Amino acid sequence: MNIGQEILKNLKKEISESEYKHYIQHLVYDVKNSTHEVALFYVPNALVLNWIKNRYTEKIAHLFEIKTNSKVVVKITLKNLVDKTKKQKVVEVKQGNSLLNPSHSFSNFMVGGSNQFAYSAVKSISEKPGVLYNPLFIYGGVGLGKTHLMQAAGNVFQNEGKIVIYTTVEQFLNDFIRHVRNKTMDLFQEKYRKCDVLLIDDIQFLSNKEGIQEEFFHTFEALKSAKKQIILTADKPPKKIGGLESRLQSRFEHGLVADIQPPELETKIAIIEKKCEINKVKLSKEIVNYIATVIDSNVREIEGILSKLHAYSQLMHVDINLEFTKNVLRDQLAEKRENLTMDTITKVVAKNLNIKPSEICSKGRNKNIVYARRIAIYICRELTQNTMPQLAQYFGMKDHTAISHTIKKINNLIKDDEDFKVKIDELTNKITNIS
Ligand code: ADP
Ligand code: MG
Repeated sequence: MNIGQEILKNLKKEISESEYKHYIQHLVYDVKNSTHEVALFYVPNALVLNWIKNRYTEKIAHLFEIKTNSKVVVKITLKNLVDKTKKQKVVEVKQGNSLLNPSHSFSNFMVGGSNQFAYSAVKSISEKPGVLYNPLFIYGGVGLGKTHLMQAAGNVFQNEGKIVIYTTVEQFLNDFIRHVRNKTMDLFQEKYRKCDVLLIDDIQFLSNKEGIQEEFFHTFEALKSAKKQIILTADKPPKKIGGLESRLQSRFEHGLVADIQPPELETKIAIIEKKCEINKVKLSKEIVNYIATVIDSNVREIEGILSKLHAYSQLMHVDINLEFTKNVLRDQLAEKRENLTMDTITKVVAKNLNIKPSEICSKGRNKNIVYARRIAIYICRELTQNTMPQLAQYFGMKDHTAISHTIKKINNLIKDDEDFKVKIDELTNKITNIS
């Protein structure tokens, strides 16, 4: 028995049988990659990952400390279940890169008006790589399915026996640094230039990193001229990514640029139903509709909610009813937003628009300041519970009518000006990802 198994055995003594059976039993200790400082465990199922992480990480760390007399960081992550027959290709891809998630398939991707264009583009590329749109550049907000779609194509190619590299900019950069350090750049270049398909996620992080942009440019050119398919994702279109060499920007725009918008209600419902099906969670139509109307655009939240509902019902042996769903969602939203203050919002808005937070709250009438103040007011209204009089006081406005006037103005701008809407969405995303 290895130390990880021993610790789990000790944990078993401290928890109920049903907790053990439903959760801890599935934990697998990674003997090979764990060290004296870091203990790695895997869970096989995304749904219970957060539940286990939140409830047991500390307990397990504590048991390690008792046993080994030293502090250990416990990391619990998801183990991808990879088809064994594809092992060889997988090993190749694995060198320094994460694997494709097999459940990110086209059949698991729900299509609606918001993502139809991007979906069709990726789908046709998966049938005819390298010739139609190269590169394909997908952009959109957090949790709208960019990674899922990109990997869906990746999974198709991998199943056809092609060499697929999926990587984030961060991993690409780390790999690059490692090879520079080991003086093995030839291997690096061979790896990235000999693949059949290159998928790079969150390309906006190339911004202001000149060295890696240079290297990436050459990789890009080599693949493109060999007619190898490249798919890129980002949170914004190429021309809005600052600190990017212009030759890269123009390359990115050269194929097809496709956006993904937040899903409409029907699509959200379809996604929730799909996730329930995949994860074998039974929810009534009423509950599905309720979740779809309450959560906003970020699809990733859906999984957190389902996982909580699932975990609770398993543990307590109760059915998931509407009452309980409402409680879980209330918790979820409150958790996300309770730390969000007008100060935080003002700071982020100020920083992004290059002015001082104190100017936003001043009575200054300078055009830029007024612009930033309006945006801050609008976002505070959207994301906090503050009343109009409270907002008026905080932002140094006359009274609540001045606030409602401001909000109306911003709403009109959002309706009329796509760029402005993107700006507001981006800021909102930034802010909600802080808390
Ligand atoms: P992004 O990369 O845009 O931030 P992801 O691709 O990681 O978003 O998607 C977040 C989660 O939402 C994933 O679990 C993904 O499977 C799911 N998802 C997003 N859009 C859809 C969709 N249209 N159909 C099914 N699942 C979706
Ligand atoms: Mg992503």
